[in-house]
Amino acid sequence: MSAMPRNSFVKLNASNKNAPGHSGSRKDAIYIMHSTTNGFTPEIIKGYEKVLNRFPGEHKRKSKTDADVLCPVHDDHNPSLGVDLRHNGAGLKVVLNCRSQGCGYSEILQAVGLTDADLELQENGIAYGCTLEAYAASKNLPMEFLTSNDVALADGTCYVKEEGKEIPAVEIPYADRDGELLTNRYRIAVGGDDKFRWEKGSTTTLYGLHKLEEAEKAGYVLLVEGESDCHVAWYRGLPAVGVPGVDNWRDAWALHLDRIPKIFVMVEPDEAGKKLWRALVGCNALAGRLRKVVI
Ligand SMILES: [Zn+2]
Repeated sequence: MSAMPRNSFVKLNASNKNAPGHSGSRKDAIYIMHSTTNGFTPEIIKGYEKVLNRFPGEHKRKSKTDADVLCPVHDDHNPSLGVDLRHNGAGLKVVLNCRSQGCGYSEILQAVGLTDADLELQENGIAYGCTLEAYAASKNLPMEFLTSNDVALADGTCYVKEEGKEIPAVEIPYADRDGELLTNRYRIAVGGDDKFRWEKGSTTTLYGLHKLEEAEKAGYVLLVEGESDCHVAWYRGLPAVGVPGVDNWRDAWALHLDRIPKIFVMVEPDEAGKKLWRALVGCNALAGRLRKVVI
């Protein structure tokens, strides 16, 4: 990896879709990983249970996704209506089957006040679990780079309360200026709205402090949202530090950037991006050095 000349920076932002800070999250959305044992996310299971709860009386739960309930159409005393979550060609659907009398589908729906659409579950839940390989693929970055001493990502596991267990996660080491490990943050999902957990007892800080010296020499730094935009920038030989979540900026962190005359802030064109920019503009210590780069 060779350092890029300073003036290539502007070009990079003009047209390069893989430029630092460019919408990693949208790209991520394609890489959905199912981490639950049977391929259903917790959100989907919740949706299934909501349907299930419309049926009064005794339930015989056979698995997370299979249950027999009392058929609301015929005089049922022994749960004989199967209410099962299934994949079909179009997506996920709760399938009804009266095994005792073969009662009609629409009659069953009517009896419990549901429509056909209520049985189609949208897969918009969070798919937990992230491996280094999946992460590398989603960012289009080589494994050799991500595991090099400079980045040092590793496959690990992280306990996720929502899943109730340890799940595969990418360990992201946060180093200090001298490259000494401060803490780890875990990437627990490739995409979605819930992607990170801090190691217990962590003090949050900027990501990539070990790149500060390089930034000071270059006379500028890219200030980006999150770790992955740092990885993209570093891969291109650009000095970058990351704010771990737009809600997390702390004015005290400006101290780290004291000796850097130009701070290019990569602002995503969304609410989060605006929020980060406002927080930075409100930080007196950065006054006069910020340059907004909308990406
Ligand atoms: Zn029936």
